[in-house]
Amino acid sequence: MPVLTEDSPLTKLVKKNEAEQLARNKGLVSVADLFEFVPRRYVRPGHLTDLSSLHVGEDVLVVAEVKKATTRPMRNRRGKMLTVVIGDDLGNELDVTFFSAYGHEGKLAPGVRGFFVGQVGAYGRRLQLTHPEYELIDDDEKGDAAVEFYRTHRVPVYSTTGKLNSLKMRRLVYQALDSVDRIREPVPDDIRASRGLIDRSAALELVHRPAVDEQPARGLDRLKYDEAFVLQTILAQRRKAAESELATPRPPRPGGLLAAFDARLPFELTAGQREIGEVLTAELASDRPMHRLLQGEVGSGKTVVALRAMLAAIDAGGQAALLAPTEVLAAQHHRSITAMLGDLAQGGMLGGAEFGTTVALLTGSQSAAARRRSLLDAASGEAGIVVGTHALIQKHVQFADLALVVVDEQHRFGVEQRDALREKGIRPPHVLVMTATPIPRTVAMTVFGDMETSTLRELPRGRSPISTHVVDANRPGWVDRTWARVAEEVAAGHQAYVVCPRIGDVDDEPGATSRDSSDEDAGWEAHWDGEGDDDQSGAEEGPTRELTGVYAMLSTLRATPALEGVRIGVLHGRLDPDVKDATMRAFAAGEIDVLVATTVIEVGVDVPNASVMVVVDADRFGISQLHQLRGRVGRGSVPGLCLLMTSDPGERAMERLDQVAATTDGFELARADLMLRREGDVLGARQSGRANSVRHLRLGRVEDEQIIADAREDAFALVEHDPQLRAHPALAAAVAMRLDEEQAAWLERG
Ligand code: ADP
Ligand code: MG
Repeated sequence: MPVLTEDSPLTKLVKKNEAEQLARNKGLVSVADLFEFVPRRYVRPGHLTDLSSLHVGEDVLVVAEVKKATTRPMRNRRGKMLTVVIGDDLGNELDVTFFSAYGHEGKLAPGVRGFFVGQVGAYGRRLQLTHPEYELIDDDEKGDAAVEFYRTHRVPVYSTTGKLNSLKMRRLVYQALDSVDRIREPVPDDIRASRGLIDRSAALELVHRPAVDEQPARGLDRLKYDEAFVLQTILAQRRKAAESELATPRPPRPGGLLAAFDARLPFELTAGQREIGEVLTAELASDRPMHRLLQGEVGSGKTVVALRAMLAAIDAGGQAALLAPTEVLAAQHHRSITAMLGDLAQGGMLGGAEFGTTVALLTGSQSAAARRRSLLDAASGEAGIVVGTHALIQKHVQFADLALVVVDEQHRFGVEQRDALREKGIRPPHVLVMTATPIPRTVAMTVFGDMETSTLRELPRGRSPISTHVVDANRPGWVDRTWARVAEEVAAGHQAYVVCPRIGDVDDEPGATSRDSSDEDAGWEAHWDGEGDDDQSGAEEGPTRELTGVYAMLSTLRATPALEGVRIGVLHGRLDPDVKDATMRAFAAGEIDVLVATTVIEVGVDVPNASVMVVVDADRFGISQLHQLRGRVGRGSVPGLCLLMTSDPGERAMERLDQVAATTDGFELARADLMLRREGDVLGARQSGRANSVRHLRLGRVEDEQIIADAREDAFALVEHDPQLRAHPALAAAVAMRLDEEQAAWLERG
């Protein structure tokens, strides 16, 4: 057998085209990857010889001899089918059926022995395996050893790709395990001893080759710890590096812009806003760059907190950049900040306050003139605040003296994008990241583990409660009642959102079936909008159901008698930016009563007069997303109402909707979301660019929270003493490998 190391490429073990398949479909490139490729499940070889004890529905591995093989043409289709009867030593028999005899016919001849892996089914009164994976056993010592192995071990079942079925995957993993001399041990001995961790090589054996009475979960726990430990080491190193950076201190200026702003605030800050404000002021004044995450429920008033920090930065002679994920949001921030500042935002203008500043907007789709103006204001220092989308990150955008970067709704914003912005300062600027998605502790420790966090727990006084109900769209009476409610709100002078899962065509009639989720505008914003993304979470219901588009909804509403005379507008990511902006302004100004929109309005849109939201095909949205969405209503003095409309929810989707309806506690919902969604999505890995997809850890699990907390403590202590990992080459190698993966994942996303 060739001697391999964990770094050996899989081309050493398989043919080139198979290696390509493994890399492309499973992300397996090196031997180390293969080790981490944990089985999906295990079958118990309880029926190696006794075929008589099988039950329909169970996954089995049987060792048996082919007794009979019959090929016959199929009745309704072209081609031949193959029926094989296999038998054990005790005279029991089992049918094995292949609906295409091709490739099996000659091999499964009477007299040969083999393993067969599959799920037991029934045909008439006889039990059978349909298309099992199988492997023939040679009639020699090797064959006997193989039989003996299955008698004494659980059999792992791996997920498969192309011609690499589970049996082949298993053989491949075993070959790798057997040909690597020494398996790297990234966790130092003392930590392993104090945590009672088993050896990594023992863990891999437990995961891939557990004996019948052993628990593979014990091995998996070790792999989880390793994953967490490597991740936390990276975070600890990042934190350490940040600590050694020097920022320009931005001390507060009594009697400055911030003081003037505070004096004009039409409301009183909540205790939380004040407290966090003090923390931010102190951090801005220090020569260590701030690196803080501000989380707070929708509507908890994060923007004011951030704005006050920005004003403090300006008071100290610097500039602030506010990065928003969409153009709608950037424009809204620009508008509301300008409005909140009033004459303070008319720096240099006649009638402006003497120490006023200018707020510039920079987005990708601005007119060339407006853009040039903003670029100039940013570069000259004229603009104290520059609000923008990812356009802010581009190379040619320069600041006179960037002091503070605020990132709104970070969880969809990449660490790389943030870094690009940080590099625009003379020294690294202070960074404040805001998110309205409540972050469970596991996620805070992993995805945001290199930041300090603050949480705004209370909502400003005078906030109204939101009630949420699920509406069965199959019951016309309920649907009518929904639109009647919307009409009542409008009649009372309020406004409504109607959110649809897709855009659809402009000339879409209700019931049209075309789906256009792929032809979205520039991928980046579309990703954010979620419009391109209908696999968000409802995908288990299958792709056959047609989803309601914005335009189809528009014509439905126009044809609804209850809504006669109601002014209806449309908003989605594919509209021209000017149109988007104008529509948002008109809605904010109360010139539109009902806004039919996609999830562009999911985050941050703030129109206090909006009191009701109807989410159409609500089962297509995830828990956190629905929670975000409904945060758009109940922002003023009117109670909010959220109606989740669904026509054909599966059981799981219904459970999700009921959960959203039952509580407005974002933390509880975030955890529920973590439990239900695929891990990669949970972390928003696709959007965020943080390679935060975890392989083994389950961030929704309480047990895993402890593993992460332990690993974090251990890793931070280790890095404190040995930031370069000089005494820990195996850990350093694992860290390097993980960072490479992050890099690769990032590049792939483009
Ligand atoms: P979010 O945390 O969702 O970003 P915002 O900052 O958009 O919340 O605040 C929501 C609304 O509440 C805004 O209209 C804002 O002006 C208002 N607001 C913020 N702080 C207070 C406060 N302390 N008292 C009353 N209203 C406030
Ligand atoms: Mg906000």
